Amino acid sequence: MKVKAAVLREFNKPVSVEEVNLAPPKEKEVLVKTAYTGFCHSDLGFIIGKVNFGLPGVLGHEAAGVVEDVGPGVTSLKKGDHVVTAWMVPCGTCPECVTGQGYICRKSVELFMKGVLLDGTSRLTDSKGRMLCHQTYVSGFAEYMVVPEAGAIKVRDDLPLDQACFLGCCMPTGVGAVYNVAGVKPGESVAIWGMGGVGLNVVRGAKLRSANPIIGVDLEGSKEAIAREFGATHFILSSKQDPVPMIQELTGGGANYCFEVTGDPGAATQASWALGLGGKLIQIGIAPPTTLVGLPLTFFAGHCLELRGVTYGKIHTHVDIPRFADMAMKGDLMLDKLITKKFKLEEINDVVEALKSRQIIGRWVCDWKIGK
Ligand SMILES: [Zn+2]
Ligand SMILES: [Zn+2]
Repeated sequence: MKVKAAVLREFNKPVSVEEVNLAPPKEKEVLVKTAYTGFCHSDLGFIIGKVNFGLPGVLGHEAAGVVEDVGPGVTSLKKGDHVVTAWMVPCGTCPECVTGQGYICRKSVELFMKGVLLDGTSRLTDSKGRMLCHQTYVSGFAEYMVVPEAGAIKVRDDLPLDQACFLGCCMPTGVGAVYNVAGVKPGESVAIWGMGGVGLNVVRGAKLRSANPIIGVDLEGSKEAIAREFGATHFILSSKQDPVPMIQELTGGGANYCFEVTGDPGAATQASWALGLGGKLIQIGIAPPTTLVGLPLTFFAGHCLELRGVTYGKIHTHVDIPRFADMAMKGDLMLDKLITKKFKLEEINDVVEALKSRQIIGRWVCDWKIGK
């Protein structure tokens, strides 16, 4: 079938909106009609070449939609099911998977870095018949997606799909880091660098865990209102103020947990200095592969500090995403408040520019109904 899609052909070049060919789902794959696709900071990271998920490729990894058709052998999904796409699809048999760490499945990572589905091939070609890569099994900036059955997580029908798309990336990445990695306890102090889609979900997770204080740090003052709405008790404008002494003062000597969400080495260094005794630095933000960071080693030993990296919030997609859908319906996650703009696919280059200049507050989502 022919579908409209956002194609990245070269790093640091405008995204092209094209009509591409999408082949039918093969064994254990499903065809999903895309409803909403969030524009994540990692999409920008790919566009500017900070990470490489395979070129040329169809962008997008944070999507929700409705199953339109299923390939041979699919047993868990049927036409009409509402699904969230996952960008990590554990194989179930590698050493990481069998020890319960599917979020770092070696086979899943190897395949998504090549831009292919689980059988090692792509369902996407351009108008000239050349292969296009799938971005991390999803390629959500397309009218329809073919994704692995194991990468389409069924969620309750009453969760609005514009909120459901966040369950594919920013929400579990943020809340999962609080619950599964930091293990924040009531009354413990938390500081978070980066008040974008993931950072706001760290704030939300910390709020649900009754952390106090919850300190949001960002270069842009325009992020303060939404940070406070999500649960931040304090906001530090790091382009004007040094967050380290302020956090030390607010927490009585340093935070129990510092979450670095931006992937910026300067922010990670600040976060390491803002830790209190026994504090943990949780690294969520993705930096280019060559990035190195200086850490105060004296205090890492003497103060028993810890540095923990985390991807995808260490979630188990099939267990956690439906639970997150229940939390969203209870109002715990405030996903409705995260949506600050809906755009149509043709506007995607404007969205790229807005994110580059840090002007996006909350999350902007591509609404596939606009213009229909
Ligand atoms: Zn993402
Ligand atoms: Zn595996």
